[in-house]
Amino acid sequence: MKAASDLLVIADLCMCEYTDHGHCGVLDGCGNVVNDATIELYGRIAVSQAKAGADMIAPSGMMDGQIAYIRFALDEAGFQDVPIMAYSAKFYSAYYGPFRDVACSAPGKGDRAGYQMPCGNRREAMREIDMDVAEGCDIIMVKPAGPYLDIIREAADSYNLPIAAYQVSGEYAMMKAAAANGWIDEDRVMMESLLAIKRAGADIIITYYAKEAARKLRERR
Ligand SMILES: [Zn+2]
Repeated sequence: MKAASDLLVIADLCMCEYTDHGHCGVLDGCGNVVNDATIELYGRIAVSQAKAGADMIAPSGMMDGQIAYIRFALDEAGFQDVPIMAYSAKFYSAYYGPFRDVACSAPGKGDRAGYQMPCGNRREAMREIDMDVAEGCDIIMVKPAGPYLDIIREAADSYNLPIAAYQVSGEYAMMKAAAANGWIDEDRVMMESLLAIKRAGADIIITYYAKEAARKLRERR
């Protein structure tokens, strides 16, 4: 915050990078995630992030009722003006692989299929978004981006809220690897991948290419 006071700081809110089991919440004796105990902790984390200076909170854990609870916790603590960007449509995707390896956040046992969405289910994605909107989120996120352009388009057509799309590590890594092998023109493919996400209806794109793309866009002006 202090180092970049002119930048907006968005804090990812989850527990998987801090738990020894790598799951996004509290586990019971059988290794299942306990939803309500988890969102109570999410509320406390959100408040501490806001106190530390986060301009926006982005809960990524996919627990039921998390948006409503975090909104309540933030409001109670006097952070009514801190918006929530909801990872509403976060699919159970193989494209997260490179990030997980770097962050060492792969679950030790089990997987996240219980709380992330099956990638073939468009209607469930729309239902999840419906719930987050009803619970008071300010921005809807779809993740990953490139393989889910239809979801981005449908969300953009269905809601009067900004849509964020997350171009994840696997999407980035594939382009990087292909470019390193001389198979694609990296600049053009990067810009085309981002333009496609924008065309699908995204207002905000989160991407590992942010700096390179910003530089390219500046050159064009
Ligand atoms: Zn997580």
